[in-house]
Amino acid sequence: MSKTMFTSAATSFRVFNILKCSKYTFLRTTTYMAAPPSTTVYSGALSIDSSADASPSSGDHGRYINEARPTSPITISLQEWQAWGTDSPLPTQVAEIVEEMIVSETESDAQMKFGGLGGKLKGDFKTQEDKKHRAKYRALDDSEQKLHFFSARQIACRLLGSRGYLCQKCWLPLEDCMCLSVVPCSLWHRMRFWLYMHPKDFLRQNNTGKLLWQVFGINSATLCIYGIAEHEEIMWKAFMHSGRNNVWCLYPNKNAPTKSVEDSFNGNMSTSFLHEQHSTNSSEIMNFILIDGTWSNSAAMFRRLKERADLVWGEDLPCISLTTGVSAMHKLRPQPSWDRTCTAAAAIGLLDELHLISEFESLGLNKQAEAVENSVDVLLASLTGRRLRMGRSITRRLRHHDDIC
Ligand SMILES: [Zn+2]
Repeated sequence: MSKTMFTSAATSFRVFNILKCSKYTFLRTTTYMAAPPSTTVYSGALSIDSSADASPSSGDHGRYINEARPTSPITISLQEWQAWGTDSPLPTQVAEIVEEMIVSETESDAQMKFGGLGGKLKGDFKTQEDKKHRAKYRALDDSEQKLHFFSARQIACRLLGSRGYLCQKCWLPLEDCMCLSVVPCSLWHRMRFWLYMHPKDFLRQNNTGKLLWQVFGINSATLCIYGIAEHEEIMWKAFMHSGRNNVWCLYPNKNAPTKSVEDSFNGNMSTSFLHEQHSTNSSEIMNFILIDGTWSNSAAMFRRLKERADLVWGEDLPCISLTTGVSAMHKLRPQPSWDRTCTAAAAIGLLDELHLISEFESLGLNKQAEAVENSVDVLLASLTGRRLRMGRSITRRLRHHDDIC
């Protein structure tokens, strides 16, 4: 059984009284630092067979692209791309794969179809595309190119499979859109979250990283998809501008001492930095990376961040660990539930712990944490409502790989 990145204790699940993330006990990072995962980036994590899922957890069966949107355009426009929660340009390789798949559909008898467990690409078209993509993947001899291809293909499939089906803001099926219930809030202007998301978490209904930009906006909580060159360049450009001293990763670094929030920030911040109302200097932003992926995928993602930090700064990526936090989402994650993490809970934990430091206490970080917490409640209620309506179990499944919502 895999462990979560932000491991939490198990508690009983109550449907109509959703427990809040911060009420759980957080296990110290040392618990899992002792047994790091051994998954490598370029083995199972990047197998083309496993990359064929489209919109995850769709819950319906046999959705055809053309049924969802009879007049689907043959490309993904910049506007369509950005509406999913980013202001980046449309990644070139994603656009290429989307076009290839659409052209391939028109030239073939097989129809592009998504659905079934996990909302995967299905049927003859899947077989045909898998074969083509596997060949292409194998032909790439550079591991960096393989990662780019893997990620771009994941994103392309998800974009096509979710078109006209998921709400572009909350990533829930349109009939379950929760957007009206999410209350936006301004994040302290000197802070910025980076959601470093695994492609397999992109457009997942039960992903909680997306809540951060729903609440704080995309300039305060920015999506960066692992292996998507355009996203990673934007993120690293911002980090290089801010400098190594203003970047932290919420992840235990087994090769370097992980500092607690208190150790990292208590007494280290100047009054002018904390209390100047308007900063136009983007180098004075505290950047926090939240790794949004399964435990095994997170290890590879962290390694990539670390390698880049070595390259850019010649030093380790500063890492911080939380002492509190949790994942109420575990109860709604697909089996194995423990393999998932609640990214929003990490953000809540960080804001709460920063708020406890006296220099930070007047910045309203506790209110900002509460805003995220409320959005987690809204998401849980929406997912639970959907499951109940569809006659599905709302408890964790221990044995079956059933879809979740
Ligand atoms: Zn919505």
